[in-house]
Amino acid sequence: MFPVTRPRRLRISQEMRDMVSESTIQPNKLIMPVFVDENANSPKPIPSMPGIFRYPISGLADYLNSLESSGVRSILLFGIPSSKDEVGTSAYDENGVVQKAIRIAKESSTLITMADLCMCEYTSHGHCGILKGDVVDNDATIDVYAKIALTYAEAGADIVAPSGMMDGQVGRIRTALDKNGFKDISILAYSAKYASGLYGPFRDAADSKPGFGDRKSYQMDPRNIREAMREITLDINEGADMIMVKPALFYLDVLREARQRFDLPIVSYSVSGEYTMIKNAVSSGNLGESVINEAIGSIFRAGADMVITYFAQYLAEKL
Ligand SMILES: [Zn+2]
Repeated sequence: MFPVTRPRRLRISQEMRDMVSESTIQPNKLIMPVFVDENANSPKPIPSMPGIFRYPISGLADYLNSLESSGVRSILLFGIPSSKDEVGTSAYDENGVVQKAIRIAKESSTLITMADLCMCEYTSHGHCGILKGDVVDNDATIDVYAKIALTYAEAGADIVAPSGMMDGQVGRIRTALDKNGFKDISILAYSAKYASGLYGPFRDAADSKPGFGDRKSYQMDPRNIREAMREITLDINEGADMIMVKPALFYLDVLREARQRFDLPIVSYSVSGEYTMIKNAVSSGNLGESVINEAIGSIFRAGADMVITYFAQYLAEKL
């Protein structure tokens, strides 16, 4: 009790504050999303995400080297293919854009290479799977996910990350990997992925906007938290090695609840809309740059082991 107890003693200097801090941001806990564009010849700025680019296959190795020298240790690859069709054929082409990018990453860097696994960048309609009428057919879609996973594994990916929110996707992929000699490839499951308005800038970046309708019949309802725990439990039972809560900042309660219930590594994806809001506020001078650390730090404090963030390189350089 005051005056004996004075919490301010432990805040007296930066050194003291650093020593007693309860959570920290470390470069090896940050994952940088990387957009690889098969149609590009030079890095193309993404207008809705200032400072973020789509990289051409030819310039990828240089960019990955720059990430590595800034201290980033892992990447999450997304591809923009040169061709799309109804059934997303280019997603499981062994010489597809992500498959090529994985090979380049593994040959030119020591980065942990994760590859996002979905169909929305590869289908002409922009949905995350095979359509039956206007609805994504779950079971036909997860068969295609398994095919994609095998091409990623053959290309040398360390981790495959299914993001389509189809039922049974993790189990189907695990079985396919194991049957084909890829028992050591990990699965990062996008377990609790919400149908969020914060994905808008990403859809420009990855050219993956649905041509009609929305994704509410497979992504989660933002009003729910118990449903997220159920989705995570199912993914763990199907063999997920790591689980994800996405987005991050508007869903810190979900992350906290997951941290308390589950022992697997938890990843949280601070999505494009979070990046753009913060970046624009800082660039305009309306907020100071310290909010970047505060925002990403809040995700770690809430319980994330790793954070996927477009600020990964910026933060790694500062640390
Ligand atoms: Zn998708």
